[in-house]
Parts: sequence; C-alpha cells; structure tokens
Amino acid sequence: MSHFSYRNGALHAESVALSDIADKFGTPTYVYSKQALEENFSAWSDACKGRDALVCYAMKANSNLAILRLLAALGSGFDLVSGGELLRVLAAGGDPRKCLFSGVGKTRDEMRLALSHDILCFNVESIPELHRLNEVAGQLGKKAPVSLRVNPNVDPKTHPYIATGLKANKFGVAFSDALNAYRLAASLPHIDVVGIDCHIGSQLLDDAPLLEALDKLIDLVDTLDKEGIAVHHLDLGGGIGIVYDDERPVAVGAYLGRVFARIDSWRKSRYAGSPIKVCFEPGRSIVGNAGVLLTRVEYLKPGEEKNFCIVDAAMNDLMRPAMYEAWMGVQTVTQREGRALTWDVVGPVCESGDWLARERALVVEPDDLLVINSAGAYGMTMASNYNSRGRAAEVLVDQDRCVLIRQRETPESLFALEQQASLD
Ligand SMILES: *Cc1c(COP(=O)(O)O)cnc(C)c1O
Repeated sequence: MSHFSYRNGALHAESVALSDIADKFGTPTYVYSKQALEENFSAWSDACKGRDALVCYAMKANSNLAILRLLAALGSGFDLVSGGELLRVLAAGGDPRKCLFSGVGKTRDEMRLALSHDILCFNVESIPELHRLNEVAGQLGKKAPVSLRVNPNVDPKTHPYIATGLKANKFGVAFSDALNAYRLAASLPHIDVVGIDCHIGSQLLDDAPLLEALDKLIDLVDTLDKEGIAVHHLDLGGGIGIVYDDERPVAVGAYLGRVFARIDSWRKSRYAGSPIKVCFEPGRSIVGNAGVLLTRVEYLKPGEEKNFCIVDAAMNDLMRPAMYEAWMGVQTVTQREGRALTWDVVGPVCESGDWLARERALVVEPDDLLVINSAGAYGMTMASNYNSRGRAAEVLVDQDRCVLIRQRETPESLFALEQQASLD
C-alpha cells in the first residue's frame, strides 16, 4: 500500500498533510515515509528469515543518517562505494562488520579506513585493486576479506546507464578471467578469499537475468572448489526495480524464494547440504517508493508548442530525468477540478535538460504544490549545488508526526569553503 495518498482531496504522507510540511519546512523538500521504509526493508528481511543471509542496503541510493539509523536498527548491513559512506554508517550507529565495500576506484586511504574498522568484505573489481589491497593490508598487518566482483555478462534489459554486468561495462572482472583472478587472490599473503559477488544493473523488472547470473556464479563456485578455493558467501548485488509508472517489478519475496530454492538444490546435490551465506545489496527497492520530492509552482508559462510549469525544484535536486531521461510521476498536492492542460514540469536551472517531467496532464495553478513520486532513491544523493542552489531539506514522517532530518542548505554554506585568495 502506498503511504502517500489523498485524504479529502489533499495529498498526505502517512497522516501528515504535505501542505503542512511545505508550510513548516518550505520547498523543495524530500519527504520520506518511515512505514514505507520499514515495509520495504521487511520484504527483504522476512524473505531471509531462518536463512544464513544478509541484506546490505546499498546506501548510495539514499544515505541520510536518519535513514541509515532506522535501517541499522532493523538489522541491515550496508553496501558502500566510498570511505565517506563508511563514515556515515559509523556516524549512524551501523555495524562495520556488516559492510561490503564495492566500487572500481578504491583509494589506499579508503582501504586503510575499511580495514581498520574490520568490514565484512571488499568487493574487488580488478587485478590491480587486488594487488593494492594486498599491499595496504600487509602494511597494517592484516588480511583483507575479499570477494571478486565477477561480470557475468548477462543483459539486465534496463537503461544502458544502469546496466553494469555486460562485457562493455567498467565494473567487475570478466567472467572468463575470474578463475585466474581467484587463483591470484588465493596466492596473495594478505588477501583472504571469502566470497563471490556480482551486481548486474538497476531497476530490473524481471528476475530472470539475476537468476541467470546466479547460475553462472554457482558454476564458478564449483570450479573454485575443485581448485581448493573455498567461497563462504555469495553476493547477488541489488537491482530489483520499483514502480515509477506502470511497471510490474518482480516481488522481492518471489525473487528471493527462487534464489533460495536454487541455492538449496545446488548445495544438496553438491555439498551434502552444507550452507553458504547469501548477501543482497538492494538500494532502490528499499527507499525508492518511500520518498517524494515536494515542490511549489513558481510560474505557469503556456506557449504555442509547449506549456511550461516552472517549479522551485530542479535537475540539481533530482537528476534522474536529466541524466537517464527517467519518467517520474507528478501529482498536485491539492486535487483540483477543471480542465487539465499538458505541461512540461521544469526547474529554474539554466539548462534545457532541466526538466522533471514532460507532457503531463495536470490541473495546476501558480503557487500550487506538486510532488514528484518515487524520488526516495537516487534523488537527494545525486543532488548538486549547480546554479548556487542549496540542496533541499529532508523530512521524515512517522504516522502523524514529522521531523526535519536535513536542513535546507543556505547560500552562505555553499561558498563557506571558498577563499578569495589571489597569487598577486
Ligand atoms: C548501486 C548498486 C547497488 C544497488 O542497486 P539498486 O538498483 O539500487 O538496488 C548494489 N550494489 C552495487 C555494487 C551498486 O553499485
């Protein structure tokens, strides 16, 4: 059930009117539903009950400390892609021993930080990274726990910018090189091979490509086993899609049911039932539908070819449309009677690419509030300060209460780090 719905013609987040949030905190503002976050996380954790499994929320989707704290309290681990993200987990009271560290460009400093906090595993994406990690771990007198991110070369059938498991992508070690990479990893003194990992893409509606990737990883684990290289966990990454428009994404429980069924029959036939830990790295499916971007109409600019609805949120607040031509739903906060016109909802940024939604039928007036739906994932985390625009406020709603979880950035804070220095 959606936690953003109309009551007497006024859109609410849980039991809080979005117009009240706009009055109290201004716009643009990201608004998140606590119940939605909890339900979305539970879809994963419930399906993992009684299993040796770990859900590591991919925090690049939304890394607000309040959201991390909430998920950590529910038992979530975290999938990180930078040292900064690890520091966020620590600040939010998360457990570094439930953290996986992914990403193609880990620096030595980031490796040292992660090693010093004893994270669960490094998802290593290349041979040079393996050598560097071995060297850094050696300097610290440690062994780095490692999975290799294997690129299974399956087509996730999603937008090319969010497909990551094809041969042409920068991510992971090619499937055909994986065996040699594992042999090397097993031979390095400060590397401890613990797992195998993949992440094939994002906003996947069907789980067939994920199951195809799983089958390939299973084959590889068997091959490694014959070589005497034992793998203790298998990480399937994230990627489960959400509803933006009329998509019908696979249900999390159904997907996990199929994953565990395959793993069970594999372990029963080959390993006398001995278990293997399974990790998941969902991002979008946990936070995407749990948030909206609340924005106010500044001007209406009807024209000969197009009608523009100019709002106070822009591409710097929500990049997905400009970056991926993503379709995001738009609704008015107050349901209005009348004849709908077709509007392009655009921001004030000086770029033609600054649009949030195109050709939408809306009954709208100046100063109305709108929401952009399903903006909880890859919204605030991708925001920038382009055009010297402070980033939006963030508010968390819990039933009939709401709380500010990030202040709106002030213009002064944007240039506080700059110095009017000269070399004269
Ligand atoms: C982005 C990312 C995820 C999360 O993907 P979603 O589609 O948001 O579930 C998981 N793992 C890795 C390595 C990622 O880069």
